[in-house]
Amino acid sequence: MQPIHIIGGGLAGSEAAWQAAELGVPVILHEMRPVRPTDAHVTDSLAELVCSNSFRSDDAENNAVGLLHAEMRLLGSLIMTMGDRHKVPAGSALAVDRDGFSAGVTEALEKHPLITIERGEVTGLPPEDWDNVIVATGPLTAPDLSAAIITLCGEDSLAFFDAIAPIIHKDSIDFDTAWFQSRYDKGDGADYINLPMDRDQYDRFIQDLLTGEKTDFKDWEKNTPYFEGCMPIEVMAERGSETLRFGPMKPVGLTNPHTGEQAHAVVQLRQDNKLGTLYNMVGFQTKLKYGEQNRVFRTIPGLEKAVFARMGGLHRNTFINSPLVLDDLLRMRAAPRLRFAGQITGVEGYVESAAIGLITGRMAAVERLTANQTDGAAPNTAQPDTVHLLPPTTTAHGALIAHITGGADAKTFQPMNVNFGLFPPLESRVKKKERKAAMSRRALAHMTGWIEAQPEKGACAAVRDA
Ligand code: FAD
Repeated sequence: MQPIHIIGGGLAGSEAAWQAAELGVPVILHEMRPVRPTDAHVTDSLAELVCSNSFRSDDAENNAVGLLHAEMRLLGSLIMTMGDRHKVPAGSALAVDRDGFSAGVTEALEKHPLITIERGEVTGLPPEDWDNVIVATGPLTAPDLSAAIITLCGEDSLAFFDAIAPIIHKDSIDFDTAWFQSRYDKGDGADYINLPMDRDQYDRFIQDLLTGEKTDFKDWEKNTPYFEGCMPIEVMAERGSETLRFGPMKPVGLTNPHTGEQAHAVVQLRQDNKLGTLYNMVGFQTKLKYGEQNRVFRTIPGLEKAVFARMGGLHRNTFINSPLVLDDLLRMRAAPRLRFAGQITGVEGYVESAAIGLITGRMAAVERLTANQTDGAAPNTAQPDTVHLLPPTTTAHGALIAHITGGADAKTFQPMNVNFGLFPPLESRVKKKERKAAMSRRALAHMTGWIEAQPEKGACAAVRDA
């Protein structure tokens, strides 16, 4: 059987390789380290954790990333097996001994009879005879490969930094203060949620932005040529106390229906997902520390009890405009032999990256197995049943994939963590404080059902002698 080629042995590529090999498909995993280093990695190990040693919350009942952990365990994830094996005390979070974790992943992949690891950089589009490829080269994809990807998807569809404005659960916004209206009632007339400020509130807010604690750029991030184009909100505030009132916080064309007047300044929120459960703060990309964002942004009238689905940030990153350039099965529309996984698809975080790797590894393997069984079919053109390739959107995996491949707006696409705002609403009414647990129960039941219905469910058993 022809191998699947996976480019990048990080969180996503390692998990993808494991899943495909466990389904009985040979894999060649191409990792450029140590031949070529990145700015952030410091070892030769596969699945190196470049910064924190935390996989975040392990609470599968009340936290979407904890739920993703639970689903990955059901799917026989190598990353979760090694995470659990190398766990260190961290309360309700799952934190790991980073060296033991990466060594464990590396050893399991090296020992697998169907996996070959080739150390070396892939410097352009893969050769034509690599007919089933997963690109999992992460936020620090080597420049030559990035340039080659641009030839397929266009310059506007590959970003080299992210500029993330905070995203808020709509049901946590106070509509006794907020209102729906588009500036000058354009478009639908009510596309934005507006939050009004009077002069005192605005002046205090500017002070908070100026004095709030910020995260530093890393040395190698400082030369990224994005700063002017996508300026953090606090840097705009530094340019003068009125800059924001003439920029993203301008009040013109908006009338507060609660008072009948124009506010001194207005914060606007724009719908962030098709489901309409999440809204982003327009123009509020920021380097404020997460704690400061929680404190400062909750002083905005209407956001006193805001629940943030994700906080704002600006980082060096590499990600494609997935809603535009990928199909539902995470293949590049312009070159379907290339499937994308991990942070380069516009998910954010170790766990999310590994989860996308998990599903793409399975997809690539099932496609290979199906093509092999189909007489005369060209490789990678036989179409297995999509239902067997994509977990339901009610699961954490399915919700995240649905978001990046179409649920998010391509015009404003920015990286996303898993969160309950990405899930379809529950079928019946459930009290607000019980909703997360109900969504988690539904997700685990649906994931179990999906696994049971897999023709190749043997591979979903717990990781054996890894
Ligand atoms: P990676 O784990 O980076 O793996 C990609 C691999 O591809 C690398 O090993 C790289 O060497 C290889 N590669 C790249 N180009 C080529 C090529 N052309 N040929 C062959 N191999 C290639 N997330 C968190 O959850 N917590 C954090 O604390 C955190 N901190 C981060 C800090 C930094 C500095 C960065 C950049 C990101 C951070 N992230 C963090 C975000 C992200 O989740 C991780 O980067 C995660 O490792 C992404 O997984 P991945 O598999 O997509 O990419």
